[in-house]
Amino acid sequence: NPVLTQFGAQMSQLTGVRAIMKDIIETLRAGDGQEFINLSAGNPVILPEVEQLWRDCTAELLASNEYGEVVCRYGSSQGYQPLIEAIAQDFNQRYGLKLSDRNILITPGSQALYFYAANAFGGYTTSGNLKQIVLPLSPDYTGYGGVTLIPEALVAYKPALDIDASAHRFKYRPDFSQLEINETTGFVLFSRPCNPTGNVLTDEEVQKIAALATPHNVPVLIDSAYASPFPALNFTDMTPAFGDNIVHCMSLSKAGLPGERVGIAIGDEQVIRVLESFQTNLCIHSSRYGQAIAARAIASGALAEISTQVIRPYYQEKFTVVETSLDQAMPQEIPWLLHRGEGAIFAWLWLQDLPLTDWEFYQRLKQVGVIVVPGSSFFPGLREDWPHKQQCIRISLTASNEEIAIGMQRLAKVVAEVYQLA
Ligand code: PLP
Repeated sequence: NPVLTQFGAQMSQLTGVRAIMKDIIETLRAGDGQEFINLSAGNPVILPEVEQLWRDCTAELLASNEYGEVVCRYGSSQGYQPLIEAIAQDFNQRYGLKLSDRNILITPGSQALYFYAANAFGGYTTSGNLKQIVLPLSPDYTGYGGVTLIPEALVAYKPALDIDASAHRFKYRPDFSQLEINETTGFVLFSRPCNPTGNVLTDEEVQKIAALATPHNVPVLIDSAYASPFPALNFTDMTPAFGDNIVHCMSLSKAGLPGERVGIAIGDEQVIRVLESFQTNLCIHSSRYGQAIAARAIASGALAEISTQVIRPYYQEKFTVVETSLDQAMPQEIPWLLHRGEGAIFAWLWLQDLPLTDWEFYQRLKQVGVIVVPGSSFFPGLREDWPHKQQCIRISLTASNEEIAIGMQRLAKVVAEVYQLA
């Protein structure tokens, strides 16, 4: 085997949920006759209306003179001009902004965007100072764990817990008494709505974080992979935030286009230019086919429409099934707490004082044919010991209503057993 560099070693590690996915795939493949209810998937469901939209946009593209220009030629690193224009127009009209094309960058998926930012704004400066990547509210997206070449740059903050014990519900809140954003901060990053928890930081919380960052010229990247206007997977009202130091980051993956890899950054021209140069060096530009069909779906308004009419209600109903199934099946006397379902495509369950680790609990669930994702992989950058990290699981909302209901009933039985009520 070739000798790896520090970066090589860092990047060839399986981080977070990718390590667990290996176990899940092997379990599903084992083929020892057991049927599994798979509540682990992060892949969105193919909704017929959404697939049809992308088919229609493709048919239009194929029939147009644009086709050769789109797939047979290189383009600009910043992105395909008609897509950039469609986004600027849509956002200016929708949110009363004054975006020009220089405020927008298209990347091959939003994961790439976080990788650029992590290594352009996080890590060691030319004078040797460590600039931190601050995750203000842990748990958060497991993929943030792999984006930096300098692992010590990633710092996450433990949340405050807002608990309604009698209702068996809770919500994470940023702990402003602990959160530090200062001259050692490279940039701030959080998902809103949040994968894995379904949390949506309130407008006030977002403004407070942005205000802490402003005096230090710290960019605040708001990962809006599940936000409005597409895929609109917020179940609670939220206003997308814009501002001098805010970079609004989007993804078309949950709007039915994960295979085409389209990410979008909207922000200050200078920040966008840094990210664009990073992209030029890395991959020149994103695939233009995905960008060209996205331009059509956004300019016509169809993508925003289908997001609120089809995508949002589909997953919101699934969350309701999780909620009602747990309320019916779970033992009242056990301190189980479901995170408020404010968005995204997951439910997040906290089993307070769980007598096993989340990994052991995951194994117990596998024995009854249910697969979830153990929660401990969703705390990238949080170094302190905190029992809570081993007391949570993520439940995907991509299974059918029936599967979710049965899955929650089986889970409730296992919970009763492990807390030794049964
Ligand atoms: N951010 C969040 C919160 C996600 O859940 C995901 C994917 O699941 C991503 C970013 C990466 O998405 P993509 O690279 O497909 O845009």
